[in-house]
Amino acid sequence: MAELFYDDDADLSIIQGRKVAILGYGSQGHAHALSLRDSGVDVRVGLLPESKSRVKAEEQGLRVVTPAEAAAEADVIMILVPDPIQGDVYKEVVEPNLKAGDALFFGHGLNIRFGFIKPPADVDVCMVAPKGPGHLVRRQYEEGRGVPCIVAVEQDATGKGLELALSYAKGIGGTRAGVIKTTFKEETETDLFGEQAVLCGGTSALVKAGFETLVEAGYQPEIAYFECLHELKLIVDLMYEGGLEKMRWSVSETAEWGDYVTGPRIITADTKAAMKQVLAEIQDGTFANAWIAEYKNGLPKYNEYKKADSEHLLETTGKKLRKLMSWVDEEA
Ligand code: NDP
Ligand code: MG
Ligand code: MG
Repeated sequence: MAELFYDDDADLSIIQGRKVAILGYGSQGHAHALSLRDSGVDVRVGLLPESKSRVKAEEQGLRVVTPAEAAAEADVIMILVPDPIQGDVYKEVVEPNLKAGDALFFGHGLNIRFGFIKPPADVDVCMVAPKGPGHLVRRQYEEGRGVPCIVAVEQDATGKGLELALSYAKGIGGTRAGVIKTTFKEETETDLFGEQAVLCGGTSALVKAGFETLVEAGYQPEIAYFECLHELKLIVDLMYEGGLEKMRWSVSETAEWGDYVTGPRIITADTKAAMKQVLAEIQDGTFANAWIAEYKNGLPKYNEYKKADSEHLLETTGKKLRKLMSWVDEEA
């Protein structure tokens, strides 16, 4: 059974006694910086002078300094800039400012797992990774709740890495929901696999293929959109609340029967073999190296894929329909 930690297992005063730098103020960065500040932690945000996020962070009452100044001042440095540039940011501004006993924190393990960042032996290397988007992390914190987090300690120079990581997780509300202990290896590989095979990649491709099948057969795109995308949320909410069983309890018996007989015809043994191949390429670093190369090359393929999907009939149909549905909150 996985090791779980809640509020009572974490001591907030540990992180309150440290100086924390949050590098980056995007989805995760803003949530961590604001919630730690509200938990009574000494926080500074490290951003480049030309950063678009700078004004927002200052408006929200945070002290913003350069990434190098933040790393120099702090003894806990959380790196929340995009994964593909973390290696460069580390080399340029973090490494020169690390002192023995400092702690280097991550929200995702990719750069440590695949060796793009190699910290010195005398610092703690920890992870606090919320299992949800940053905007939800912040909203839940403000509502007195939290998003579950996972924590890991890759290098325990002080012997107190886990207590520090749990304290940090408490500062962003994670221990209110529950924190699971993992390793950098497990977090990185399962996170990449989950987002590629199931959550983002698998689901997007499934929705698109279903939508295209209906439209190509002559059905109205608006109806296809509702069947293949809009209703997905209702189904996923039921799964989230009570697993497959609750979803199947709520849908019609006809839908349940169709689920049993048709699901395995769509996600076949071939699909599972492809998943195993995807996992192997995550584990051996093929994916991480290709992604970092794409990023450093100026994102040519990434932009091509993004453009093609934004022009897809699924998306143009959805844009029009969502405007007509006052209850769909695009900001959520
Ligand atoms: P975002 O892309 O949302 O934000 C990145 C931030 O970094 C922006 O504020 C950007 O500022 C800033 N930035 C870019 N370059 C630099 C630089 N050289 N120095 C300082 N700041 C810089 O990132 P995410 O929050 O999505 O991801 C951060 C980390 O969190 C990643 O490791 C990711 O895997 C992890 N994570 C993300 C989740 C999510 O919900 N998005 C979930 C769990 C983990 P600007 O653009 O204004 O210049
Ligand atoms: Mg991820
Ligand atoms: Mg139906």
